[in-house]
Amino acid sequence: MNRPAARSALRSWWAEWHLWSLPAPVRVLLVAVELAAVCLLTVDIAVHGLPRDGSLWWTAGALLVFSGVHAEISLRAERLRRRIADTRYIDLSSVWTFAGALLLPPALAASTVIVSYTHLYFRVFRPAGTPPHRQFYSTSTVVLAVYLVASVRYGFEAVGATTSWLAVVEVLACLVVYTGTNMLLVVGVIRLTQPRSRFLAILAGGDVGLETATLCLGGLVATTVVPDHVLLVGLVLPALVLMEQTTLIRQLETRAATDAKTGLLNAEGWRSRARLVLATAERDRSGGGVLILDLDFFKEVNDRYGHLVGDAVLRAVAEAISDEIRDRDAAGRFGGEEFVVALAGVRGRPDRDGGAVREVGERIRRRIEQLHVRVDDEVPVQVAGLTVSVGAAVHPGAGRDLDVLLAAADEALYAAKGAGRNRVLVRHGPRTPSPPGPSVPAPRPGA
Ligand code: GH3
Ligand code: MG
Ligand code: MG
Repeated sequence: MNRPAARSALRSWWAEWHLWSLPAPVRVLLVAVELAAVCLLTVDIAVHGLPRDGSLWWTAGALLVFSGVHAEISLRAERLRRRIADTRYIDLSSVWTFAGALLLPPALAASTVIVSYTHLYFRVFRPAGTPPHRQFYSTSTVVLAVYLVASVRYGFEAVGATTSWLAVVEVLACLVVYTGTNMLLVVGVIRLTQPRSRFLAILAGGDVGLETATLCLGGLVATTVVPDHVLLVGLVLPALVLMEQTTLIRQLETRAATDAKTGLLNAEGWRSRARLVLATAERDRSGGGVLILDLDFFKEVNDRYGHLVGDAVLRAVAEAISDEIRDRDAAGRFGGEEFVVALAGVRGRPDRDGGAVREVGERIRRRIEQLHVRVDDEVPVQVAGLTVSVGAAVHPGAGRDLDVLLAAADEALYAAKGAGRNRVLVRHGPRTPSPPGPSVPAPRPGA
């Protein structure tokens, strides 16, 4: 490679390494974890050396081969999965890395982790756009997990665990320590980069069930397959591929129901969730409702600041709405600057005033009024003073069927716009036929 080409390759590698654009606390955590992993491994190898027992090297080699074959078989599905879903820490290769942590001395297990993660990086993560520092960090968290698992194993060895049930307890303890270390370190970084994200939401997004199933398979591989029946790995691989495909289908379904701009449900996705939410309200007789929210004079935001800033405002509004409702409720974007919410189990009497449904609408309205959306472009922009009009319909007073409730809420929204905007109007009874003749929204005061 000539010099300018080498320099430009170096520059693009550096640009890919987005580490320095991260906030300082994240950088500190990343560097601390990475240093800890590198130091532990180096000191361990310097003090204890690598094992001389040939069978351990055979085991490490076999795990590496299985891991490589597995990665190659599931290459297409994994690349697609990385692209469509932000599954931050789920990694089916932990079957092999966890098995290594259970079977090998930590220095050898950590070395196999590094080799198989490097292979995965170049074959799966890099083509999917994962920056190198993220991969370096994940590898470091797994190396630390391997050492913590080793300390659990030494603990059981010191106690002299020989009975079979104690062996099962040992594997379970290792599983908890391995997955706990990874989750805490990865969720820690996500919380530092997105302080508003909820711990449980991150865990749910990461697919804990899949992670647990993978590690259970890893436990089986370590305790039964590799020591006694190594050819049975032939049965583990199809199970892994099937798990991958099922996850892929579920992620595609989620993607199809998600509004790409805001991360809320899209119109189709919201309708199916809203039906479930209303069914819960019906079954529990707990009260529910539907809200339609339309930002006031949003066109002016676009005209004044441009569409990109408009999009950032839409995202901030979506986040505000999600924050003000509970997980059992459903929020969606119907299109444009129009949002919808389905509520169940709203406390309070659905009285003539709309009760608890109105309260939720008011909460969201006030929250949007207080929003300050900062967009750091070449010239930083701050958008404030947003308002929203909300039309709501109470279940079952205004109707039981989703479309009936939506029509009632839409009517209320129209009335809210007509009455001067920035307010919540609630329909709590059946619709009355509208008077003949067109009705026109009120002009903006001072416009
Ligand atoms: P009001 O609802 O108070 O009557 O006024 P408005 O200005 O919000 O009215 P209207 O519903 O007519 O305008 C909606 C605007 O929303 C028009 C369009 O520029 C903007 N919009 C729709 N979809 C998007 C989008 O995805 N991104 C951005 N940035 N703007 C959008
Ligand atoms: Mg609109
Ligand atoms: Mg509007």
